[in-house]
Amino acid sequence: MSQPAELQRAPVTGKIDVVIVGAGFGGMYMLHRLRGLGMSAIVFDVATGVGGTWYWNRYPGARCDVESMQYSYSFDEGIQQDWQWSEVFAGQPEILRYANFVADRLDLRRDMRFETRVTGAEFDEATNRWTVRTDRGDVLSAGFCVMATGCLSAARMPDFPGIDSFRGKIYHTGHWPHEGVDFTGLRVGVVGTGSSAIQSIPVIADQAAHITVFQRTPNFSIPSRNRPMTEDYARSFKDVYPARRAEARMTRNGILANPNDQSAIETPEADRLAVYEQRWESGGTTFMAAFNDLIFNKASNDTAAEFVRSKIRAMVKDPAKAELLAPTSHPIGTKRICVDTDYYLTFNRPNVDLVDISDTPIEAVTPLGLRVGGQEYAFDAIVFATGFDAMTGALTRMGIVGRDGMTLADKWAPGARTYLGLMTAGFPNMFMITGPGSPSVLSNMIVSIEQHVDWIADCLGHLRDRGLDCIEATLDAENAWVDHGNEVAHTTLYPSAASWYMGANIPGKPRVFMPYIGGVGAYRLKCDEIAANGYEGFALSGADKVAAAAE
Ligand code: NAP
Repeated sequence: MSQPAELQRAPVTGKIDVVIVGAGFGGMYMLHRLRGLGMSAIVFDVATGVGGTWYWNRYPGARCDVESMQYSYSFDEGIQQDWQWSEVFAGQPEILRYANFVADRLDLRRDMRFETRVTGAEFDEATNRWTVRTDRGDVLSAGFCVMATGCLSAARMPDFPGIDSFRGKIYHTGHWPHEGVDFTGLRVGVVGTGSSAIQSIPVIADQAAHITVFQRTPNFSIPSRNRPMTEDYARSFKDVYPARRAEARMTRNGILANPNDQSAIETPEADRLAVYEQRWESGGTTFMAAFNDLIFNKASNDTAAEFVRSKIRAMVKDPAKAELLAPTSHPIGTKRICVDTDYYLTFNRPNVDLVDISDTPIEAVTPLGLRVGGQEYAFDAIVFATGFDAMTGALTRMGIVGRDGMTLADKWAPGARTYLGLMTAGFPNMFMITGPGSPSVLSNMIVSIEQHVDWIADCLGHLRDRGLDCIEATLDAENAWVDHGNEVAHTTLYPSAASWYMGANIPGKPRVFMPYIGGVGAYRLKCDEIAANGYEGFALSGADKVAAAAE
């Protein structure tokens, strides 16, 4: 089939230093750093423009749950001074505008090819190079590949029987139509109660005639207390930005959260409640920094969970609905905590129903709607807010083949294994930005992205300066890192929840805790120490060595 005129371009072929997959915040900064090193690079992305997750997640109410003054690039003082955020927590359209502002400012798009899917990447052991192919006929020989594919980019649509038979419209929050959706006067079903659902339900309920929410597991959500950005608040960062950014890089989550270094359970009840109350009033995910042991000690965690449940009961008028919405199946914070604007209050509206599907799963999509427990619910539109094949999905679907014909999908079938979340043994010269095994989704993503990009760029500079063209994680280092990651994860309450961190949302996916929970600051120091020790745990080799081996 021929391409429409606006999509036509000549395939890119030949040799290049680096192929970057993904034009989100990771791919954008990686390209900028590589240009600074004088290396040739090209970025491929399926989207029509930059922005990654903020390009795709255009659902109503989409908003970042990290404050914009912190969820933004720190590498360029001019950019961080010149960009003005309009709200404390920016919405998706503003974050996408910001990504485009940075792309314009750094003239990034001339080395990007959009509407292009990478369909395969194969490592050639004879040359130490990758052959990268796309669905637009590009075939490149790359010295290195950098996968900037994002942790939450492979949207997951459950395989309910009959999904193609529905006569209305079906949407997934992670793949929202660019022209937007008008729900005015419609009956809407929403499946899921994770972050995307919790943000979109109040906005959809405002518009739709009626909305029915299908809840399998209730989640804990904290009010965002979003507000317009004031000049004073922006100045409180901008006047001292380098120092604040440096401080954030050494925190546990890459976020300035003003952590309280006291134990919840050892704090007298009245004082404890006052702390929770103050955190609840100031809003946001930093609620979990109220005490130092909420993710380690079940008894401490219970006090925070019960506090939030009491808030839910106070907000939701119908006691039966309130009980359904109050989470009891997992410790607070062990599934990604949500941040909302009026989520619980939305269930007081007469046009909002809640259906508990914890014991009676959705049986099928029917031509009219959804069937649960033999009962049919009729809709004009169904919104699946059902999440992602997180952390590994984008990578294992890409057709990556490393040494000895081993595919990444096969290697990771029992669970993702990496060294530092940066490389995986058997796949030389392939870096991942915020890969599994790094703090990634447990952190302010832009802080972690910048750290990885800087580490990778410095590493490529190191190799080039020494005439080396190959780097690979050793199996021993990888095994030790995976063991360490598991050990740290099991000192916390996180593995007790059936979360997407554990792969539990995808039927058949191995239950392995994927992100590294040792903390952003400690992880950064470890990465720096490894680099300073000549890239300990990595095997580095040069072109001449490969030539000698081939003789
Ligand atoms: P999610 O957290 O994985 O939530 C998916 C929801 O769909 C869950 O309630 C899940 O129930 C439900 N679900 C999945 N399959 C189902 C099925 N077959 N039947 C019924 N229910 C089903 O996905 P998400 O809300 O898109 O969020 C993913 C992550 O993206 C977040 O955790 C966060 O890291 C990020 N995010 C961030 C923001 C933000 O910055 N504010 C906004 C949106 C997303 P179970 O819990 O029972 O599996």
